[in-house]
Amino acid sequence: MREDNCIFCKIANGEIPSKTLYEDDAFRVILDLGPAAKGHALILPKEHYENLYELPDKTAAGAMLLAKKMAALMKEKLGCDGLNLIQNNGETAGQTVFHFHMHLIPRYKDDGQKIGWVQGKAEAEELEEIRKLIAE
Ligand code: 5GP
Ligand code: ZN
Repeated sequence: MREDNCIFCKIANGEIPSKTLYEDDAFRVILDLGPAAKGHALILPKEHYENLYELPDKTAAGAMLLAKKMAALMKEKLGCDGLNLIQNNGETAGQTVFHFHMHLIPRYKDDGQKIGWVQGKAEAEELEEIRKLIAE
């Protein structure tokens, strides 16, 4: 399934050109137009799924295997010192393109980039409440 007005559907399926690093029947890996660091890439499924919640198991598994493969390739070719694997779901979480994608962001010592969150605090009681809510 493809969405008519989805830019990533068009890129993934080759209707709009992109800097492609890898392609197979199910995925295309492209360079991000607004890179957080040199070599910032996006893994796009060719089928349209808005987010992780919609993703079929097979596509989810394939995306992670591909992330592993691309991470090794980037380490080898770019000589990066680290790599962030990021995937946003929903506007609140920072998603801006509503076609599932995974960010592969190579990291370099002293690259000056900041990717992260403000660390909070939680008491054991609160953690236990959350554990129960989710796991029981
Ligand atoms: P999100 O915020 O949804 O997780 O990430 C969307 C990403 O897509 C951003 O990093 C943005 O730079 C990238 N992006 C948006 N439009 C295009 C485009 O047309 N081509 C490419 N290559 N990247 C895009
Ligand atoms: Zn799409």
